[in-house]
Amino acid sequence: MLKPSLHVLARHVSHRARGFATTNTSRMQKATTTLLIVGSSAAVAAYFLLPDISRGAPTSDTKPINPSHFTPAELVSSTFASNGTKILTVAIPPELLPTERDLFAPIWSVFIKDDDIQVERPYTPLDGVDKDGNMKFWIKRYNHGEVSRWLHSKKVGETIEIRGPVRTWSWKDDAWDEIILISGGTGVTPFYQLLRTVFSGNSFKGRITLLHSSRLPSELPPPDVLDPLLELARHNPDKFRLKLFVDSFGETKDRSFAGVEIHQGRIGKDVIWRAVHSASNFPSLRGLFSRDSDNSDRKILFLICGPEQMVGAIAGPYGRNYSQGPIGGVLQSLGYKSHQVWKL
Ligand SMILES: Cc1cc2nc3c(=O)[nH]c(=O)nc-3n(C[C@H](O)[C@H](O)[C@H](O)COP(=O)(O)OP(=O)(O)OC[C@H]3O[C@@H](n4cnc5c(N)ncnc54)[C@H](O)[C@@H]3O)c2cc1C
Repeated sequence: MLKPSLHVLARHVSHRARGFATTNTSRMQKATTTLLIVGSSAAVAAYFLLPDISRGAPTSDTKPINPSHFTPAELVSSTFASNGTKILTVAIPPELLPTERDLFAPIWSVFIKDDDIQVERPYTPLDGVDKDGNMKFWIKRYNHGEVSRWLHSKKVGETIEIRGPVRTWSWKDDAWDEIILISGGTGVTPFYQLLRTVFSGNSFKGRITLLHSSRLPSELPPPDVLDPLLELARHNPDKFRLKLFVDSFGETKDRSFAGVEIHQGRIGKDVIWRAVHSASNFPSLRGLFSRDSDNSDRKILFLICGPEQMVGAIAGPYGRNYSQGPIGGVLQSLGYKSHQVWKL
């Protein structure tokens, strides 16, 4: 399970850095009000005075990467992806890769530090780290976001400091029969990492459904992210299915993406109920489950990652400092319990 120290570390930073959000939270509104009242320079000073156990971590270019220090990495590629997002690849010297490969078991992330203002945020290496030390990220730029704007401005060849790996959730091959992943926007990145790892072996015997939503078709994950997931769905039709949703089609006429139907509307009660109760998209299981069966013997898990409002509506809001908080929202109304739900 989670190493307590890393878990606390991740939560400590993420309560100030949570940013799969596409909407402003009350915390941000409070921050904005404070900024207006006190003035920007005082607010910046206050920000730097806030306790932060991590941004003061030392930098080492000789020790293997570890959450206790930053490691300089080179930005080796930066390309525009779907609306307001980029695919960035950073490389650490391969000799700084730790030998313990289980450190890279899903789901893990690294903190990236904005050197200009000494602030760090967590990001999810899509395919983990390869033997040459490359890590690829899909990163959304927030108009007022500190680190994401800084990252989008970095040029190939420049240095970026990373700190990690930090485990955000632990996978177990045989712990669940049915897993429903629900993501919004760049919240799909941890699920991409998880799915690619799980289906690189063949010991997982259960089934996984990914329900992903973006606001518009143009904001759906770029091909670097979506194509490998579609490939997984094609190769594992009895174990993995993927459903895409958009809030609206906007100007787009096309109602499908690479042959996959795009559904309009939010991921709500009906969609989740159908995902759990209908086996129709798992060909080998057709007929085994009736649509009304509650399948109550199955060990089912929901993982949710996305904008705070989406997480709140589906699984109930986070608790203090982004602890899990009680289950709420759609999943509670469908009768699921806390042990079946994890908010990433
Ligand atoms: C474990 C984990 C993994 C993650 N992985 C990824 C990933 O792979 N890819 C990815 O893109 N993101 C990822 N994130 C989110 C990421 O860590 C950042 O939170 C995100 O990039 C925003 O950081 P920021 O510094 O740019 O924005 P922040 O400065 O933290 O701002 C966050 C939000 O507040 C808004 N905001 C900021 N200032 C103001 C203001 N004055 N008034 C109103 N609103 C304001 C911003 O517009 C933005 O919506 C991950 C988060 C976690 C917890």
